[in-house]
Amino acid sequence: MVVGDATAVKLVIRHARTLEHEGQVDIAADDGIVSGVKADMSETGEYEIDAGGNLVLPTFVEPHVHLDKAFLAESMPEAGSMAEARRLVKDAKSNFTGEDVAARAQRCLESALLNGVTAVRTHVDIDGVTGLKSLRAMSGLKAKYKGLLELQVVAFPQEGIVKENGAGELLEKAMENGADLVGGLPEAELTEEDGRAHVDRAFEIASKYHTDIDVHCDVQPHTKFVEYYASGVIRRGYGRRATADHLIALAYYDDDHASKIVGMLRSAGMNVVTNPCTMMVSGSSDRPPKGRGITRVKELLGAGVNVSFGLDNVMDPYNPFGDFEPLRNGWLLSYGGQLNRAEDQRTVLRMATYNAARVLGLDGYGLAPGCRADINVLDAPSPRESLRRRTIPRYVIKAGRVLVENSVTVKKNF
Ligand SMILES: [Zn+2]
Repeated sequence: MVVGDATAVKLVIRHARTLEHEGQVDIAADDGIVSGVKADMSETGEYEIDAGGNLVLPTFVEPHVHLDKAFLAESMPEAGSMAEARRLVKDAKSNFTGEDVAARAQRCLESALLNGVTAVRTHVDIDGVTGLKSLRAMSGLKAKYKGLLELQVVAFPQEGIVKENGAGELLEKAMENGADLVGGLPEAELTEEDGRAHVDRAFEIASKYHTDIDVHCDVQPHTKFVEYYASGVIRRGYGRRATADHLIALAYYDDDHASKIVGMLRSAGMNVVTNPCTMMVSGSSDRPPKGRGITRVKELLGAGVNVSFGLDNVMDPYNPFGDFEPLRNGWLLSYGGQLNRAEDQRTVLRMATYNAARVLGLDGYGLAPGCRADINVLDAPSPRESLRRRTIPRYVIKAGRVLVENSVTVKKNF
C-alpha cells in the first residue's frame, strides 16, 4: 500500500467500467472535480491510471457503525445474545476515556480509507456514564481526517431517553457540542408507550437543532416502532432526512402488514439501513429456524425505498469480527437477502455507494461531471466479480488525488 501526496493534479482514468455506462469510458478529473466522462477521451492527464476494463465507482460510504465500541472484544468476553451484548457494553463504558475511544475509532478510520471508504456515519453513545467523552473524541477525529474522510456523528441514546434522568438534556448538549444529527433506540425503554415518547423526544431535538434523524428501529423481532416512527417522518415532513436502521421485525410481519409498512416507508421518502454481518450473528433470539437478522431488503428496494447496508459493529460484544470492507459486507448481504441475479449485484454496489451517500445527504457525490472526484478503481470487471472476489480497491482517489494504491491483488484468475 502506498499513500499518495497531497497534490491535486489533472487525473485521467482510462478503460473504466461504471454502473452507469455501457462499454468502457475514460474519466477525467481536474482540481478535485470530475470534469469529463466519455469513451476514448483525447485529453491527457498529469497522472493517468489504466483501469484495464475494471469497475470504477465513487468511493464507498459507510452509513452505520459504532466507532466508540470498536475493538472492545479485545479486552472483554464475547456475548451470547443481544441482551448480553448490551449489558457488557454498558459495563465497559464506565472505563471509557476520550483517548481510548479515539484510538480505537482511529484504527477503524485508517482501515476505512485503505478500503476506499471516504464517508462514515457513526452512532456515538450519549448517556450518564460516558457523558460527552466519546462525542469529543469523534470531534477530534473529524478535524484530524478533514479532507480525507467525512465523519458524521449521531448522538445515540443507547440507554434510553425516558427511563434515564436527564438523558434528553444531555442529547441537547451533544447537539450543542458537535453532534451532527440525532439518533434513537425506542426499544431501550421499558414500555411501548415510553418507546413512542422516546421517538417524539428525538424528533423534538432534531427539529430544535435543524438536523437529520437516524433511529435504530425494531432491532429485535418482537418490537413494533417502525409504524410510529414512519408516521412521524410523514407528519413532520422529514423525508430523506430520516433514516430507519435494522427493521428486523418487518421481516417477521405477515405479508399484508409488511406491505402496508413498506408502502409507508416509500411514502415517507425515508432511508433504510440494514446491517447484515452484526445482526446475522446477534440480531435474532429465535429458536430454530433462525432469522437472518435483516429486513425485507428485496421488497423495500422493489418499492423504491432507498436502502443501504452498514457494518454496525467492529469486534465488540455485538460482532466478533467486522471490518471496513463494503464488498465483503455486500457479499454477505447478497447471500442473506438472496440477491442472486446480475441486476441485484449492481444494486448491492449501488447500496454501498449512491444509496449510502443519500443516507448521509452527501452533496456532489458520483461520477458525473461536476461531482467531487472521490473514486475507487476496483480490481474486478463486473459487480458479480467484485463481490465474489471481494478484493480491496487498487486505487482510492480522494478529491482527484491518489490517496491509496493497494499493490496486492488476489483471486484475479479464479
Ligand atoms: Zn447500530
